[in-house]
Amino acid sequence: DQSVCAPLPVLGADVTVPLVTGGEVAYAALDYAASAPALQRVWDDVAAYAPYYGSVHRGAGYLSQLSTDLFENSRRTVAGFLDCREGDQVVFTRSTTDSLNLLAAALPAGCRVFVFETEHHASLLPWTNAQVTYLDAPRTPDQAVATLERALADRDPYGPALVCVTGASNVTGELWPVRELAAAAHAHGARIVLDAAQLAPHHPVSVRELDVDWVAFSGHKLYAPFGSGVLAGRADWLREAEPYLAGGGASRRVTRRQDGGVDVEWHESAARHEAGSPNVIGAYAIASACRALTEAGFDSLVARERHLIEKVRAGLAEVPEVRVLSLFGDDAPRVGVISFVVDGWNSSHFAAALSAEYGIGVRDGLFCAHPLVRTLLGSDPQTQGECGAPEAAPGEKSLNAIRVSFGAGTPDEHVERFLAAVA
Ligand code: PMP
Repeated sequence: DQSVCAPLPVLGADVTVPLVTGGEVAYAALDYAASAPALQRVWDDVAAYAPYYGSVHRGAGYLSQLSTDLFENSRRTVAGFLDCREGDQVVFTRSTTDSLNLLAAALPAGCRVFVFETEHHASLLPWTNAQVTYLDAPRTPDQAVATLERALADRDPYGPALVCVTGASNVTGELWPVRELAAAAHAHGARIVLDAAQLAPHHPVSVRELDVDWVAFSGHKLYAPFGSGVLAGRADWLREAEPYLAGGGASRRVTRRQDGGVDVEWHESAARHEAGSPNVIGAYAIASACRALTEAGFDSLVARERHLIEKVRAGLAEVPEVRVLSLFGDDAPRVGVISFVVDGWNSSHFAAALSAEYGIGVRDGLFCAHPLVRTLLGSDPQTQGECGAPEAAPGEKSLNAIRVSFGAGTPDEHVERFLAAVA
């Protein structure tokens, strides 16, 4: 297909791994949903900048000024990548988990939170200071909107409320009706945060068009290295909250009081939540990845991924023992994240065999989305093991699943090898 572009160059493309059967084989990284390999372009940008980095914000030296510029420009690049509104803030965090915990710490008093049970634990669990309503797994996107509408209609319409929803599931890859959920939230006076950890690497995300209040994502899933993430969106709750990290950089003025205590004036910008020396290289790497994806063009990236998704789904459909997990059905639009179980196989053994005998890296388990995977497997929550590798007795239902995931750097050859190995 002429419209399908070549894979983008990524690190690790030449890595070979030993097989238990002897010899070595090129590693096929098919676990992008956990962490994608870094783009070569990101690595090159970081390598070019690394000799020049210095402390940001307070240094008078030339390299400190350069680093401050690159750090603040990275913020602007991310704001452009997310199509943020005038006045939105971009806070650099450690990860999606960190971003959502930051927002959870910034909720106004009395805030109610609404979250589907199908969410990744990063979206499901941070709301420990709020009264949380967990919504049942919907079976269609329309049902998701109707479920949310009903729950919001039942609450006190004058209190603050937040909806947290994923853009693309880390288990099924299915896209959620974010724009419709945002409209429902706003119609009921609630706000919405989009967990774009799995969406942003695969699709353009426009804060403005989706009309979400915040968006969170991780650098290491967006072809940048570990250790940096983003929370972007409305400034008001963030500006009014206590600093997520208290310390230097977040404080504008600290004075000793007559009574011996200390008064602090905190910044109102993103720096309020970024105390300490920030991860400048991480922020720069995220910005580089944003630029690289934008330049490659999401139209061709999406086309390439669709081609891979169709190939994988068609290949898996030919193996009678394979059951692909889905909440919204076969026709639902999705990203390159596909989970399945294989009749007669323990998923963990199956994934281990793909690695040891074929050099293919996938993931097995419950994918930090325990309630969703249990719903999809139709298993009894009371009899489940821990996250990891619970054993299914022979002939019994699987207790966990196998996940294959891919993206902009995946060559056709990797998914072909994967399908041959599964067959
Ligand atoms: N949300 C979703 C949908 C995810 O897939 C993940 C990572 N698996 C996270 C949040 C958490 O991301 P991180 O581990 O980078 O904090």
